[in-house]
Amino acid sequence: MRIILLGAPGAGKGTVAEILMEQYGISQISTGDMLRSAVKSGSELGNAAREYMNRGELVPDSLIMDIMEKRLQADDCGKGFILDGFPRTIGQAESLAAMLKKLGMKIDAIVNLEVPEDVIVRRLGSRRTCSNADCQAIYNIHTKPSKREGICDKCGSPTIQREDETEEAIKKRLATYAEKTAPLIDYYRNDPAFISAPSLKPEPAVEAVAALTGR
Ligand code: AMP
Repeated sequence: MRIILLGAPGAGKGTVAEILMEQYGISQISTGDMLRSAVKSGSELGNAAREYMNRGELVPDSLIMDIMEKRLQADDCGKGFILDGFPRTIGQAESLAAMLKKLGMKIDAIVNLEVPEDVIVRRLGSRRTCSNADCQAIYNIHTKPSKREGICDKCGSPTIQREDETEEAIKKRLATYAEKTAPLIDYYRNDPAFISAPSLKPEPAVEAVAALTGR
């Protein structure tokens, strides 16, 4: 099962991905998580990506495509994968199509998560993330607080507000989404694998994938 999740930052892609991973036994591939780990480890990729990310801008397509080609062929992708946060531009979608063709892979579902902008702003501003790059568990101070304030339930590291989740960076990320990523909805709309689901809760999207694929 191979799935693409589309949606604005804060639309709930991570939450839907967690359920789909469990349900189909497939891996989540989050380019945001991969980039944050790279920044934390101070690798060449991380150093090249850091400034773009902190400003709420997209990292150049060339950097992303390099890491994705290797990632899609990793052992844990044998049963499939969920792409979370990729593709983010028409250019990435076109490169992905060429890459999948070369690898003989087909996408089973392209899921667009619909959430009103005011909900997104509220969600992102109240989000806290585990500072441990290997964990990156996500909490919400209103709806999903950690048991001990400021401490990750899973690994005990401090939870923090991400630099790109300040009010200014959130506005920039939403503007970037509208300009660069939202056009993907029209790019994929006529694909038989395309579905769109309201995402105040994760269930409608999960059920739509099952209905579309019969799995
Ligand atoms: P996310 O956690 O998916 O919202 O990603 C955080 C940040 O990482 C984004 O604001 C971008 O700067 C960068 N990023 C993640 N995925 C991509 C992508 N596919 N293309 C370009 N930049 C990305």
